[in-house]
Amino acid sequence: MTHDYDDDCIFCKIIKGEIPSYTVYEDDDVKAFLDISQGTPGHTLVIPKTHVPDIFAYDADLAATVFAKIPMIARAVRDANPAINGMNIVNNNGEVAYQSVFHSHFHLVPRYTDQDDFKMLFKDNSANYDDAKYAAIQAQIQAQFN
Ligand code: 5GP
Ligand code: ZN
Repeated sequence: MTHDYDDDCIFCKIIKGEIPSYTVYEDDDVKAFLDISQGTPGHTLVIPKTHVPDIFAYDADLAATVFAKIPMIARAVRDANPAINGMNIVNNNGEVAYQSVFHSHFHLVPRYTDQDDFKMLFKDNSANYDDAKYAAIQAQIQAQFN
């Protein structure tokens, strides 16, 4: 894997050790460290050790390398605390999607109860969709693979 850094990027500085972090796992390809916010206890970020702004910038090799490590790190975070009953893995891309640090990262958010401090809302808009509407969106997306 190439290791390209952006001098102005806070997560690149964490990779280089210029900013401290509570690292829980690292190897040549990825670093996993506690999110400063600790949305729920154990909230961990997994980042590639090369500067890539968001999911849209990954090539298949980088994706294979980084994604392959996530289940292993997720298991370690879960197994570290018997009170953890589940986990949301979240990857924000773009400001509108709540991305605030533009070095791609995956949030591993341990879940304890449905009353803990993590919420995610998928509104069900299916009542507003008919076959034609689904098919039009399907065709628009499929056409991008050509
Ligand atoms: P995003 O909003 O881009 O999906 O997530 C960025 C995350 O990075 C936030 O949850 C925020 O708490 C975390 N964060 C920002 N700056 C730092 C930092 O200096 N150290 C650590 N450990 N986490 C940070
Ligand atoms: Zn970076």
